[in-house]
Amino acid sequence: MIIPKTSKLNEKQLQEVEAIASDFECSILEIQGRNRCVYAILGDEGREVMFKRIAGLPFIAKVDMIESPYKLMDRRSGLSDHRVRVGKTEVGKDKPFIIAGPCTIDPANPNFYLESAHALKEAGVDALRGGVWKPRTNPYSFQGDNHSLSIILQAREETGLPIDIEVMDSEQLKLALEAKVDVVQVGTRNAQNYRLLKEIGQLTAGSNTAVLLKRGRHMASPTEFIASAEYIVAEGNPNVMLCPRGTTPPLEGYRNHPDESITPLLKNRTWAPVVVDPSHSVGHADFVPACSLAAIAYGADGLCIESHIQPAKGIGDDPKQAILPQKVKELVGACTEVWKNRYLP
Ligand code: PEP
Ligand code: MN
Repeated sequence: MIIPKTSKLNEKQLQEVEAIASDFECSILEIQGRNRCVYAILGDEGREVMFKRIAGLPFIAKVDMIESPYKLMDRRSGLSDHRVRVGKTEVGKDKPFIIAGPCTIDPANPNFYLESAHALKEAGVDALRGGVWKPRTNPYSFQGDNHSLSIILQAREETGLPIDIEVMDSEQLKLALEAKVDVVQVGTRNAQNYRLLKEIGQLTAGSNTAVLLKRGRHMASPTEFIASAEYIVAEGNPNVMLCPRGTTPPLEGYRNHPDESITPLLKNRTWAPVVVDPSHSVGHADFVPACSLAAIAYGADGLCIESHIQPAKGIGDDPKQAILPQKVKELVGACTEVWKNRYLP
């Protein structure tokens, strides 16, 4: 990775770097971080002469040769001072970043979503979530509906809160980006769908769109998890948040095996913020608050929580695992207290 002396290479400087790279059949990708640009070398990087020639240019601060399966996501990379923002909020700056909302938007009852959104705004959350298209284990279960996109857009309009929706394929991604969603969510089932990850990176490169990347449920190792994020960043979008959400096989009684304890490991290896999903992890409303507090104690930068104004009348996961917006409000306060007293290595 190439780190310039200034915050960005000008056109002439970039051309000079590109010319050297092309002598070695490599190309250069500009990655726009919050404070500066870094430049990834694409192609066979194992060419010492190329590194030396680029490092020798007067406007280059250094060329990093980090031996890591995830060069850009690595804590030692030139992006280590990158901060992810959602809307106007920097994730994990002064308090836990809270995304909350129903699992699934019910297109037949938009008011449930809209009322939940207003109650969550009142509860002090930073962003709204809501499933428009749903990855369902059972092919006969409700799969989502394009109309739900307009409902969550209306909720953003009315509350002013940024929105997070999951996309599972190219078509959904394009619709989400046309609607200028603030956060594109990649679910656990697509956590290693590298073509989708690349496409998300390409179509959001240089934009403010953030990506909430869930951990692969089949116990994706920290390396696999971070490498998935690398696919997005390597296409030009460093606004990635890592989301542990429980793995399978489940701990008996829970929906999955809770994995908030992976947080310090992730933060030790990468600069990316960690936003834990306690709802899918434990899968029962009663257990979500404890899991949320544990995640913050482990050093998470935020939480993604399922919440519904009337869980019993919700669809998807909401009847079993959504908590009331009032509970979210209590959790925002309790998590902020834990945040102040957490132990960070
Ligand atoms: C969701 O957030 O509703 C969801 C389907 O999540 P996951 O991909 O973690 O199962
Ligand atoms: Mn869900």
